[in-house]
Amino acid sequence: MTADDLVDKYPALFASASPSIGEGWLPLLETLCSRIELHYKWKEQGGVKIIEAEEEPPEDGKYLHRFYFSQIKEKFRGLRAYSYGGDEYTQGLVDMAEAVSYHICENCSNAGSEKGEHWIRTLCDPCHDDWENIRETNWQKEKAFYKNESR
Ligand SMILES: [Zn+2]
Repeated sequence: MTADDLVDKYPALFASASPSIGEGWLPLLETLCSRIELHYKWKEQGGVKIIEAEEEPPEDGKYLHRFYFSQIKEKFRGLRAYSYGGDEYTQGLVDMAEAVSYHICENCSNAGSEKGEHWIRTLCDPCHDDWENIRETNWQKEKAFYKNESR
């Protein structure tokens, strides 16, 4: 699975941001997306109206702002997923995914831990040993990303 596959699967969640993280964290992010979607499904089935940020809330007070990511990246070894909308439950899901990322190799999804003296990342041992190659590949991808973001 690539980041593009995930964006294609959950277009509403990624309407204003694409994940800029290693592929090892994509299964974790996919789990997060599926739980958020399920939560919204259950809420809607319970009569809760899903509304946009600028939309007038219904008078009965049963509403939930639409959830979507504003930025997904790696910061200080961990996954960071910034978002709009949602409720305490979705924030809890995001917090849990961010916390779990510190135990998953960002490159390959194996069990990982803090690695590296200069480039501190969450990696497994084989990815840490091969990190120079991986870093070069990621750098090429990142350059393309920042070019697209024009900053
Ligand atoms: Zn790994």
